[in-house]
Amino acid sequence: CGIVGAVGTTDVVGVLLQGLQRLEYRGYDSCGLAVHRGAPLADAPWPSERGLVRARSTARVAELQAQVQADGLRAATGIAHTRWATHGAPAVHNAHPHVSRGPGPDAAQRAPRVALVHNGIIENHEALRAELQARGYVFESQTDSEVIAHLIDSLYDGDLLAAVRAATARLHGAYAIAVLHHDEPQRLVGARAGSPLVLGIGSATDGPVPHYLASDALALAGVTDRIVFLAEGDLVDMALGRYRVVGADGRALDDAARPVRVVE
Ligand code: GLU
Repeated sequence: CGIVGAVGTTDVVGVLLQGLQRLEYRGYDSCGLAVHRGAPLADAPWPSERGLVRARSTARVAELQAQVQADGLRAATGIAHTRWATHGAPAVHNAHPHVSRGPGPDAAQRAPRVALVHNGIIENHEALRAELQARGYVFESQTDSEVIAHLIDSLYDGDLLAAVRAATARLHGAYAIAVLHHDEPQRLVGARAGSPLVLGIGSATDGPVPHYLASDALALAGVTDRIVFLAEGDLVDMALGRYRVVGADGRALDDAARPVRVVE
């Protein structure tokens, strides 16, 4: 239903939660976020526990906020979601983000490698689920979305953009997604087909500019008014201080093809 993402050098948890709050009016049955604690925060020492950390709730965004504040969760890279269930009952284990811990019977003991939020419906999720289960992936939810996380994991070879691109080529249906990978702490990849997704360009007085992703520019109100509207089939590769939009044909697009617009 709603997506927010951010990659920066300072804590983005507040921006993620505020973005979800701005999307609450659309309705939702659960919410959640995942952050990457493998990147340093400008104003804090490296966290002792690195990697992808997730928090989810079937209550309101305010409840999720209380949960992450109690945990002292802070990070420079993250994704967040409000879910309106289409496949799988409203429940914490079906709330996004979904993760992949890689294949194998010991997967449950491993840390997440991929974290993903998804808006839309994957029509061929049953066939993909059967294929991934045959390859040893263990599913933790009844959603159509979880197949995308495992598919990306199965295709990952050191480059998250390449893995997301290869995965989306196999999806039938509608999606806007935002994806993080354990091995690339300062990278966030998004893709859209049939569901909206925008890129927000932040500002910084010092150091690299933060970048944001959202299913609606409204989620970024008060954060940035400089928005790039992604087109059908686009992917966006966001790293610290830079972004690149890749068209459906796999070619990087220049600024004229996807101009920055100033929105109210
Ligand atoms: N189909 C997905 C699910 O049921 C995403 C729903 C949404 O867009 O919120 O989890």
